[in-house]
Amino acid sequence: MGFRATILTLYPEMFPGHLGFSLAGRALQRGQWTMETVQIRDFAIDRHRTVDDTPAGGGAGMVLKPDVLARAIDDVAKDDRPRLLMSPRGRPLTQRRVRELASGEGIVIVCGRFEGVDQRVIEARGLEEVSIGDYILSGGEPAALVVLDAVVRILPGVMGNELSGVHESFEGGLLEHPQYTRPQEFEGREIPAVLTSGNHGAIEKWRHEQALALTKERRADLLATDAASQPVKK
Ligand code: SAH
Repeated sequence: MGFRATILTLYPEMFPGHLGFSLAGRALQRGQWTMETVQIRDFAIDRHRTVDDTPAGGGAGMVLKPDVLARAIDDVAKDDRPRLLMSPRGRPLTQRRVRELASGEGIVIVCGRFEGVDQRVIEARGLEEVSIGDYILSGGEPAALVVLDAVVRILPGVMGNELSGVHESFEGGLLEHPQYTRPQEFEGREIPAVLTSGNHGAIEKWRHEQALALTKERRADLLATDAASQPVKK
């Protein structure tokens, strides 16, 4: 069976979104991964189907109720797939975590809304808080689509060219080297000669140097990790 994604959300219509298109969309149709959405509101039991309430201690906005969310999780996440909660307070998503998730049987993703989720359900249901960057979205749905996009594209057989993941940004701990394609000359700018030399050793060396220089300039933080000091894997 393929990779199974379960998404808990107040807006199930937002899925599969862009993942219904292109390679991910075709893989979904072929059953290489499956997606199930769960409407959190279906697990509210009062007459008004309330899912949120005012923050304890006061302040602006509303908080997702722990009891409602716990019932939803208990109903759909009976296995031991990782349970992610999209959250700006979470650990930033990395390609390493994406690879780990893709190697498992699937994923359960809870999409927050409003001011967030009651802390007690995060603890009680072992939710792993994951952030997609240092900015605030209005809801967890676009973040969940980002996580799924990154995971699905590296599932076996999803990307047409299996090798094309190997040299990408972050995979060797570095940002990727610049890319070029025809025409040979564009508005007076030539493709670097080494790339059309046919000398594969020289090309590999050039690409690694470029990747290293680019990473130094833009993301010196990445060089602190061990992987970056290794030559790019073939
Ligand atoms: N008050 C919260 C932000 C709530 S934003 C705080 O300051 O931390 C509403 C929801 O959007 C969150 O519950 C989360 O699910 C989602 N979200 C917002 N920004 C996100 C980010 N950078 N990464 C992942 N999820 C995010």
